[in-house]
Amino acid sequence: MPSSDLRQASTDLTSPYPHLLKPLDLGFTTLRNRVLMGSMHTGLEDRAADFPKLAAYVAERAEGEVGLIVTGGFAPNLVGWLKPFGGKLSWPWEVRPHRAVTAAAHAHGAKICAQLLHAGRYAYHSLSVAPSKLKAPINPFTPRALSARGVERQIDAYAHAARLAREAGYDGVEVMGSEGYLINQFTAARTNQRSDAWGGDAARRMRFAVEIVRRVREACGPDFIVIYRLSLVDLVEGGNAWPEIAAQARAVEAAGATLINSGIGWHEARIPTIVTSVPRAAFADVTAKLKGEVRVPVIATNRINMPQVAEDILAGGKADMVSLARPLLADPQWVRKARTNQATRINTCIACNQACLDHVFQNKRASCLVNPRACAETELVYRKTAAPRRIAVVGAGPAGLACATVAAERGHQVTLFEGSGEIGGQFNYAKRIPGKEEFHETLRYFRQRIDDTGVTLCLSTQVDAQALRNFDEVVLATGITPRQVDFAGADHSKVVNYVDVLSGRVVPGKRVALIGAGGIGFDVAEFLVQEGASPSLDPQRWMREWGVDTSFESPGSLTKPQPEAPAREVWLLQRSPGRPGAKLGKTSGWVHRATLKAKQVRMLGGVEYLGVDDEGLHVRIEASTQTLPVDTIVICAGQEPRRELFDALKKAGINAHLIGGADVAAELDAKRAIDQASRLAATL
Ligand code: FAD
Ligand code: NAP
Ligand code: SF4
Repeated sequence: MPSSDLRQASTDLTSPYPHLLKPLDLGFTTLRNRVLMGSMHTGLEDRAADFPKLAAYVAERAEGEVGLIVTGGFAPNLVGWLKPFGGKLSWPWEVRPHRAVTAAAHAHGAKICAQLLHAGRYAYHSLSVAPSKLKAPINPFTPRALSARGVERQIDAYAHAARLAREAGYDGVEVMGSEGYLINQFTAARTNQRSDAWGGDAARRMRFAVEIVRRVREACGPDFIVIYRLSLVDLVEGGNAWPEIAAQARAVEAAGATLINSGIGWHEARIPTIVTSVPRAAFADVTAKLKGEVRVPVIATNRINMPQVAEDILAGGKADMVSLARPLLADPQWVRKARTNQATRINTCIACNQACLDHVFQNKRASCLVNPRACAETELVYRKTAAPRRIAVVGAGPAGLACATVAAERGHQVTLFEGSGEIGGQFNYAKRIPGKEEFHETLRYFRQRIDDTGVTLCLSTQVDAQALRNFDEVVLATGITPRQVDFAGADHSKVVNYVDVLSGRVVPGKRVALIGAGGIGFDVAEFLVQEGASPSLDPQRWMREWGVDTSFESPGSLTKPQPEAPAREVWLLQRSPGRPGAKLGKTSGWVHRATLKAKQVRMLGGVEYLGVDDEGLHVRIEASTQTLPVDTIVICAGQEPRRELFDALKKAGINAHLIGGADVAAELDAKRAIDQASRLAATL
């Protein structure tokens, strides 16, 4: 029996999540629980001047009782930079700023490792190097093929960076061997066409990885954590098959790895691995497969966002630790809340990527849609007020909920009015979209927050100006109204709007045209083509649809995708020329487009709407007119601010703050709504 199994035998069954909270003895050091904060590039790693902010961010997660923290990636040399002037650890003077970060983790009882990440051909600059001169499909830069001496230099750079990490106070390093970065480029035939000692058969391809682990161990001694992040499923053509992956795991273990973390999918893979429609813990079974191959503890990852999900993985013997990255952006107190049996108070990561990964791809600092304080810990502070006031917040959508609860937490006396019978505003439509089930969690969190902060909630209360006279501050978060269209036949009985459909008031026919292909048009299309239970709730079904080999044996773990038949025939239309969906999120838009393509949705740009009659929707596309023989036309044509109350208040001489959709409806999303609301509440 592996030693990690022996340790599990003495689990404390009185704690709410006994396997999750059980310390992990690594021989020379002990982690206080099984939660690893996975590496996330936040944008604070790139400039020494931002390290105090990085330290504050780390301190909050360590104070929240995370066991082991892994930093965002630091390149071991210049050529390994992800982008020019990105985070790097190769020169002696780069050590000092890290000390505040490691001290912050240690002050709160957490261990911390620096991730060493060499981008290889994913580097966004012209100095990039790789095993072979092959451009990545997601990067315009072509790398230079490394010479044999160049390969040795990269290995030395890893060992040197690990030594510097130790000097900076890190308890260890994570060697990033997955996600398609340099080491993974060596291990896979897809990117390694070398015929020297570093390429050819699988044994030679993995030599680079093994040598790095061996030399890092040699450089840093036996009492230093070395995590190896191993690509368990490459999800690309030319990726490794299981026997090669298992051999690599055994070899890095023998070379000195303390822990093996799971890597899931290359960045260039066309199978989603972390967006919200990926089922929770979808890839835990491949970590379980790895556990049978090695004796060192193994770490499961991807879409583990609630304690019970993590506990089930650990209790089921699938892994020894779990890695959570985005869930700790969303709630730094995640582990403490789990330990104290307060899972209903967890601000759950909804895997939207909107404020974290999408920001990083736009060279902006990461944050979190549901927690705008993430990476802004020193700037957005919710101080207790010295002068409590009576505050009315009108509208319990994301903006109103965030504003009311932050203001009440600060000590104000807050009344939250909501016209409908439930909190949530448009999130009540979002949560019905297949693949957006996580949105329920945000509503559960806010329900609990309302109770905890003492907000007085008045549901089914459509307030008017008169009712708001006696408050010291009035905040209007009244949201939006769907935009009307004005082409001929817009009042035909076939024409409805997205609220009619998502609320269940109207059940569209079998052939449907959607007018408007923004975020809501895409969501409604997914709602219409998918009938019955969502595949996002069933990992096996989801993997079949996307073409993941559920035995994880085949090269890249790929198999032929088998999408289920669409429930309806759908046309998704926009007036602007070009491909619908171009403005969707950078890291999630392609998933929406691929999902609809697999369901044969016709996505058309440059459409002129000529009118609706009993025959259907008449359109002109590239000078040719045609009739789409549809039963229902759903308008998803954007939104207008809902301001009638604001105007009435103005007339009555009452000042009000406007937030969320009521302020600016154009391009509004929940990220902006919650951020704006929280920032206002912090100043009231
Ligand atoms: P709303 O959510 O519109 O809330 C306004 C609230 O005010 C409503 O509950 C309304 O009943 C109440 N109200 C209005 N007038 C009064 C009154 N006089 N008295 C009392 N109550 C009143 N955003 C994202 O960021 N990511 C997504 O993935 C995403 N998906 C979406 C999917 C769908 C299907 C939809 C419809 C929206 C989606 N959105 C998404 C958009 C997001 O939901 C909105 O941006 C957000 O809800 C706006 O928040 P808000 O608080 O400003 O307004
Ligand atoms: P949107 O993104 O602004 O899209 C509106 C669509 O309607 C566009 O395709 C637009 O394209 C079309 N349109 C606008 N005016 C029209 C008119 N008068 N007649 C016909 N078509 C018209 O708005 P949305 O889809 O309503 O989404 C609202 C917000 O919710 C968005 O800002 C989005 O960020 C957020 N949201 C996000 C997600 C997500 O997954 N992140 C999901 C859902 C919603 P043309 O002008 O080219 O026709
Ligand atoms: Fe999770 Fe979205 Fe927050 Fe990122 S922005 S951490 S995906 S909730």
